[in-house]
Amino acid sequence: MKTNSDKPLDVAIIGAGPAGIAAGRECSKNQLSFKIIEARNRVGGRAHTVDFNGQALDLGAHWMHMAASNPLVPHTKACGVETVQSAGIYPRYKDGQRQSSELSHNLHEAWAITEANAQSKASAAHDLSVAECMPTLETYPQLKDWLDTLAFGYSLYSGRAAAEVSAFDYARVDDGENLFPKGGYGSLVAKLAQNLPIEFDSVVTSIDWSGEPIRLETAKERFKAKKLIITIPVMVLAKGEVKFIPPLPKLHLNAIHAFKPAAYEHVVMRWDDHPFKDGADQLTLFNGDRIRNISVLAEIEGSFYHYIEVGGQILTDFIGTAEQKKAFSIEIAMNELKRHFGPERVKQIEIMHVTDWWNDKYSAGSWSVAPPGAALSREALQTPIDNKIWFAGEATSPNQWGTVGGAWLEGERAVRHIVKLLQ
Ligand SMILES: Cc1cc2nc3c(=O)[nH]c(=O)nc-3n(C[C@H](O)[C@H](O)[C@H](O)COP(=O)(O)OP(=O)(O)OC[C@H]3O[C@@H](n4cnc5c(N)ncnc54)[C@H](O)[C@@H]3O)c2cc1C
Repeated sequence: MKTNSDKPLDVAIIGAGPAGIAAGRECSKNQLSFKIIEARNRVGGRAHTVDFNGQALDLGAHWMHMAASNPLVPHTKACGVETVQSAGIYPRYKDGQRQSSELSHNLHEAWAITEANAQSKASAAHDLSVAECMPTLETYPQLKDWLDTLAFGYSLYSGRAAAEVSAFDYARVDDGENLFPKGGYGSLVAKLAQNLPIEFDSVVTSIDWSGEPIRLETAKERFKAKKLIITIPVMVLAKGEVKFIPPLPKLHLNAIHAFKPAAYEHVVMRWDDHPFKDGADQLTLFNGDRIRNISVLAEIEGSFYHYIEVGGQILTDFIGTAEQKKAFSIEIAMNELKRHFGPERVKQIEIMHVTDWWNDKYSAGSWSVAPPGAALSREALQTPIDNKIWFAGEATSPNQWGTVGGAWLEGERAVRHIVKLLQ
């Protein structure tokens, strides 16, 4: 087995997703010697764009959330990437019929009520669940038969049932406009990784931080480094996929085990004669059940491709093999579309791809969810260990968790601290 030279690196970074790439760029800017060690044969992690017949489609992250504070937005111009603003108020369908814009506004308002309740009633010490902050029929009768759909929205976009999501954690997330980067978010992230020193197909299996330098092991090579940034998703760490010598401190171990994986998948479909006539990139919700339901991001970049979004409790409750889970995601998607638009119409749908981030060995879920009472696990994980090891990634971002932008900022944060220590 090779060892990466006698001289230890200033910094070793595990993972070439958004956090790892941001950390690498920051190391490069500060002229530190570093390497990024990546398990897969590609960059981007959960931000991954693929080409389907000339159309770029994101299998993972797609929205540039919180545009005003999203650190990737300022890079788009230099990368030659155009952005499109998302519509904000989204169309709703019931039994195949597009609903009034008044309903869309009511749903939007109900969303704001939940957020206001979470902000005013939940704190880190006295947390609630998102479900407990939602309006009820008594407090917001305008929603009538759409309350289940609202609950489904929280379950889908949190990746777990609203009762399992910390209201404090939900409310502290930055707000604001969303953008779509043309050509895919994964492509933008990959562009920003160009020229970084990345070792691909290198799964880190053990980290020995008992002495100096820190020693990392992969099947191919050993690495030595003065400082280490770990961007491996917390759900992967919770599975014990990496051996730490000595074991991690209790603070970090408890934090890692406090999170629950989010379930959120893309069923990519081609539907030429589709019913969504609101224009490109419109997020569409359907009146339906609080658990068995879908949403659709229609006409990706104005094409005939659409993402059916499946997730939340229906998938966290699912028990079965990875293949059965993919088939189940398609079944949910097709049944719901059939229910709204009829069996004849949906016959034209061609399913191009189904993601399964839940069973992906290097993700183990779509993002990290903090259950009620566990939000401060993000801050706990931010705490450096012995000024040698930093965790960084979407899970350590208190204000942009679950996002590419949050992961990016966390990668930068870790390096800035290291730079101070090395000065
Ligand atoms: C379907 C889906 C849709 C999403 N939609 C959005 C969205 O619209 N907008 C948004 O901002 N975010 C979205 N997200 C979340 C976003 O993708 C993540 O928050 C972001 O990718 C996290 O970045 P990260 O660097 O923390 O982790 P990752 O992207 O997971 O990167 C971690 C890297 O570590 C590598 N790794 C794991 N184990 C090892 C090991 N043992 N050794 C070496 N390397 C290892 C992985 O292969 C990976 O490349 C979505 C995610 C999914 C799955």
